[in-house]
Amino acid sequence: MSSKVGVSRPPAEASAPALSKEEILRYSRHLIMPEVGMEGQLKLKQAKVLLVGTGGLGAPLGLYLAAAGVGRLGLVDFDTVDFTNLQRQVTFDSSDVGRPKLEAAKERLSLLNPEIRIDTYETRLTSENALDILREYDIVADGTDNFPTRYLVNDACVLLGKPNVYGSIFRFEGQASVFGHPGGPCYRCLYPEPPPPGLVPSCAEGGVLGVLPGIIGAIQAMETLKLILGKGEPLVGRLLLFNALAMRFRELKLRKNPECPICGEKRTITSLIDYAEFCGVRGEEAPVPATTVPEMTPRELKARLDRGDDLFILDVREPHEFQICNLGGYLIPLGEIPKRVNELDSSREIVAHCRSGKRSAEAVEFLRKAGFRKIWNLKGGILAWSEEVDSSVPKY
Ligand SMILES: [Zn+2]
Repeated sequence: MSSKVGVSRPPAEASAPALSKEEILRYSRHLIMPEVGMEGQLKLKQAKVLLVGTGGLGAPLGLYLAAAGVGRLGLVDFDTVDFTNLQRQVTFDSSDVGRPKLEAAKERLSLLNPEIRIDTYETRLTSENALDILREYDIVADGTDNFPTRYLVNDACVLLGKPNVYGSIFRFEGQASVFGHPGGPCYRCLYPEPPPPGLVPSCAEGGVLGVLPGIIGAIQAMETLKLILGKGEPLVGRLLLFNALAMRFRELKLRKNPECPICGEKRTITSLIDYAEFCGVRGEEAPVPATTVPEMTPRELKARLDRGDDLFILDVREPHEFQICNLGGYLIPLGEIPKRVNELDSSREIVAHCRSGKRSAEAVEFLRKAGFRKIWNLKGGILAWSEEVDSSVPKY
């Protein structure tokens, strides 16, 4: 199989079936463009594109590629639709909450374009299954949000010789490129090593502005169409950087790294590796295990407060999180604790909490080293409090 998708295909009439009358009408705005035309539309119809992830980036990718008539779409995801997804994952609507993402996405895309084939893979992409799944497709569009899967997709694409249309987003910023194209660099040429675990927060931790995945995912969809059609100048060897606040695009030139362990001349990686280990995480974005600190469960805390015990609740979240919901605690954001430690009374019993219990574990660790002995971490944070004690406290 040629990896030069759409570039080296024989003329359409040699192998492709014609478009139906309905398809001619549906794709009319493509057909009247000489750069697409019947030949281009048939290339789209014959193209097979795999979308890894059906979330924020996967939404515009799936919707636009289905609408444009890409004949076969593969979708990989294992998640269910969550209320927090709806702010940006526009494939889904409120009635989809709780459904498997694949089921909801397939239904939506099939309604949009019943002429195309949609295959779903309800699984986490792993070193064991990636090559088998990717092999079926001409182009892979990476809509993942974590480093292990990103390196996995990159390596599998390089090993199979498939273009990897990459996009990533965080808060107000995004980037896009096309990796794994013959002669072009790969993701590892750009980032040979993953960042230390925990250094780059995920969208779940750092947030993402609603429209941003729409913009970056739409760029990925456009690059995918161009690759299929063999038209224009693809984002090969170029990293497009987008800042939504400044509303500015910048571009970095990327070179293939001759020392790249997977696409360089002396490649050292010849098969897929353990990406969780490579990225220093256990499983999907697992946090670095916190040092064990004394913990109190939300139920224990509630019982003690009900008993009238004198407990000092220390909230180590950020002020904007405190505004979302709080337990009436004393607010000192984690980063300010070292210089505000004098505001705390080590003779009192202190229960520290954050959203999930991760940051407050660090706070407890720090304060114990500073001599605090009567201090606990609220296990599971305010999320667990909402779950186990008071459901009127909103989760976020
Ligand atoms: Zn490379």
